[in-house]
This record gives sequence, structure tokens and C-alpha cells, in this order.
Amino acid sequence: MAIEKTGIIQPDIFKFTLGQFEISTLLDGIVQRDGPHPIFGENQNESTVQELLRQNYLPENKFEHGFTPLLINTGKDLILFDTGNGKLNDNHGKLVNLLEKSGYNHEDVSKIVITHCHPDHIGGLGLINDGYFKNATITIGETEYTSWKTGKNIPEQRKSNKELFEKICLPLTDRMEFIKPNQDVVAGITAVNGFGHSPGHMCYNIESNNRNIFFAADITNHYVVSMQVPDWHVMFDDDKDMAIKSRKRILGMLAKEKIPMIGYHMPFPAIGYVEERKPNSYYWLPISYQLSF
Ligand SMILES: [Zn+2]
Repeated sequence: MAIEKTGIIQPDIFKFTLGQFEISTLLDGIVQRDGPHPIFGENQNESTVQELLRQNYLPENKFEHGFTPLLINTGKDLILFDTGNGKLNDNHGKLVNLLEKSGYNHEDVSKIVITHCHPDHIGGLGLINDGYFKNATITIGETEYTSWKTGKNIPEQRKSNKELFEKICLPLTDRMEFIKPNQDVVAGITAVNGFGHSPGHMCYNIESNNRNIFFAADITNHYVVSMQVPDWHVMFDDDKDMAIKSRKRILGMLAKEKIPMIGYHMPFPAIGYVEERKPNSYYWLPISYQLSF
């Protein structure tokens, strides 16, 4: 008798404690795309990019891209960082289910922090129209919000993204709190300038009981290419030069301080350390059990 196959199962929740905080990374979805070239290494030859992938045991013509929002229970607030794709794509948008599997309810979320307004980060805000997240305020970078609202520094390739912002984000303006770099969302969670990937792209330093973890959001979009050759152009970066500067500054800081990083598009559980093995060339070291202690 044939034994029926039961389908692929992969982990989609990773939950740990950091000082007083309880933190979950939630895998909202994965897409498989052609590339990484020319999305990554846009200003390089295809063969150069492929050689780097071969050296790292990765396929040359396909890659995977995960979407990993972050949930932090501080004891006083339940804070969701980015909202995944929502209903923008039928294959994704598992976020609300994962919140429940993680032991919470969408009504428990008191704050939603948006790192930037690209579709895979704001898509889930569309769920608010369906009655989800009704107790949450929305924290967003002032520069990011103003840029999308006015269109200033929004490249032509983001035209449909701007329309999405107008449809999903603008109507929520009266629920928003605006934040600048170096300001706190709540005690222990501080905004860090990561501008460039989008005009006001923000990262967050998370600290409790003198322990730190850093949510880098989209500072890196591929765990090999963005890290090992941070100078290569990435199609997804709205301002290439500014994105490169922010990427190198933040990767350099994380490598020096040995602070673990959470990256929205890093392989699940999307947490790792950054090591500078050669000058200006960084390696992603996925975590194992470091956060168990
Ligand atoms: Zn993204």
C-alpha cells in the first residue's frame, strides 16, 4: 500500500525571552523568485553574482525571500513590528494565525510599528478594515510617512507602492504616532536611522535588562549578497547610495558590538550574528541556542 505524502512542514514561529521581554519572530510567508541577479548586484555582471552564490552553496538562478514580522511582549505592551503581506498575495498572510499560535490575539496588539512602507511591510495594515488590530496605535517614522504622502524621494518604480500607501496607510493617519531616529517607541525600544532602502526606513534597537537585539528590517535583503558585498546595488533599495551607507554603518556596528540581528528577509528564524571576516564584507551566522540563556 502506498503511503501518502503529507506535504512540506517548516518552522514558522520562533519565540524566546530577552530580559523582561518575550519576543516572537513570525514567518508570514515565503516567495521564490528568479535571481538573485539582477535584483541583487544590479550593477554587476550576472556571472560575478552567480560565482558568489556558488561559493556559498546557493542556487544561481533561484532564490527564496521570507517575510518575518516581529512580536514583542514588554509586559505592558504587545508590539507588532511590520505586518507582512496581508491579503496582497493569497500565498502569504498567515500572520494572524501565527499570532494566535504564539499565544496571543490580534486584539492584544497595542502598537504596530512600521519600519517602512513597502508592500510586504504594510500589506497587513489592510486587515484593520476587516476588524483586526482594533486596539493598536501605529508608530511610523516621520520622514517615511511624509515622503510617501508627498511623493518626495519616491522613485518612479514605486508608483504602485505609493498608490498602495494612499489606500492602506493614509486613512489610518489619525491612529498614527510619528517617530524620529533616537526616539523610543516604549522604554527599551529605540528607533535607529536606516534611511535609504526607503526614504525613512527605520531600524530598532531592543534592550531589556542590559541585553540587546537589533531589528534591522530591510537593511539586508539577502543573507549572502547584501552581507558579503554590501556595496552592490539592490533593485529594492529606493536610494542606492544612501542604502549602502546605512547598510555598512549598521552591519559594522552589529559586528563590532556582537549584537544579534533580526532581519525581516533573513532565512527563518531570521535571527543571526554579523561577522566582519574581511574589511567591509560581512557573514551571516544564524543563531542556534544563544538566546536560550
Ligand atoms: Zn521588505
